Amino acid sequence: MKLLRIDYGSGPALAVEKGGGIVPVSWIDQSAPSDMAVLIEQWDRWGKILSVATDVDALAIENVRLLPPIARPGKILCIGLNYVDHIEESGMERPREQMWFIKPATCITGPEDPIELPRVSEQLDYEAELVTIIGKTVRHADEAEARAAIFGYCAGNDVSVRDWQFMTSQFTLGKGFDSHAPIGPAIVTAEALDAENLTIQCRVNGEVRQSSNTKYLLFDPVDQIMHLSKVMTLEPGDLIFSGTPGGVGAGFKPPLWLADGDSVEVEIEGIGTLRNTVRKN
Ligand code: MG
Repeated sequence: MKLLRIDYGSGPALAVEKGGGIVPVSWIDQSAPSDMAVLIEQWDRWGKILSVATDVDALAIENVRLLPPIARPGKILCIGLNYVDHIEESGMERPREQMWFIKPATCITGPEDPIELPRVSEQLDYEAELVTIIGKTVRHADEAEARAAIFGYCAGNDVSVRDWQFMTSQFTLGKGFDSHAPIGPAIVTAEALDAENLTIQCRVNGEVRQSSNTKYLLFDPVDQIMHLSKVMTLEPGDLIFSGTPGGVGAGFKPPLWLADGDSVEVEIEGIGTLRNTVRKN
C-alpha cells in the first residue's frame, strides 16, 4: 500500500493510493487519524480498514499538492559511508562500525518543495537515499524484531553542505540546514517492496549523477535497527536514512555543487521520485 500526505485544498490530509488515484483516508473512515505517526502506530487496525476496496471517486494526482509523508518525525537518523562506491570516492576506509548522525526535524520538506541554497555556503550537495520508516516501538531488537519494526520505506535526499560538514569533527550543522531532508513522495509499506533490491538514482537537471541498487548497502536496514536500538528506543514514525551511493557532487573533480535553480530528482524503484528545485535563501 502507498500512503501519502496531501493538500487538496483544505489543509494537510492523509491519503492512500488506489487504482492510480488518491483517496483521503477520512473519505474511507471519518475517524481515521490525521497524523501519519499515529496511523502507523495503530496500523494493526487501520491497515485492514484502508486496504478494503472503496467505491469513492479518487482524486487525480495532478489535483493535489504532495506534502512530506511525515511532517515532524521524532528522530531522523542517518548512516554515513554505507555504499562501497561512495566510500571509495570519499577516500575513506571501509568502516567496521556503523557511522551515525542526526538531522533535525526542521530539515523535513516535501517531495516537490524547494531546497535552500544557504546564505553561508555554495558547497551544496545531494545524496539519494532509501529511508526506512519505523512502525513499532523497539529497544534491543534481535533480527526478527528489527525486521518486524520496519513499517515501510520512502525516498529521501540527505542534502549536505560540505564545507560546514567538515568544518569540525561533527557533521550535525553541515547536515542540518532547513529543508535539507526532502522525503516522499509516498510511504510504501514493507510487504509491498523488496527493499534489498531497488534501483536508486539521482539526477541533476536531468543528468544522471548517482545510479545504484540497494543491494550494495554495507549495513542493511535490519542491521541498522539492531545497532541503533542498542542505544535508543525507536518509535513509530522515526526515519532512518540508509546512506548514499557513489556519484555525489563532492566526488567530482572539480566538485559539482548545486546552484540556484537546479532541479534535483531522487528516484527509487517502486517508491517514486522527489523533484526539488534549489532556491537561494
Ligand atoms: Mg547521507
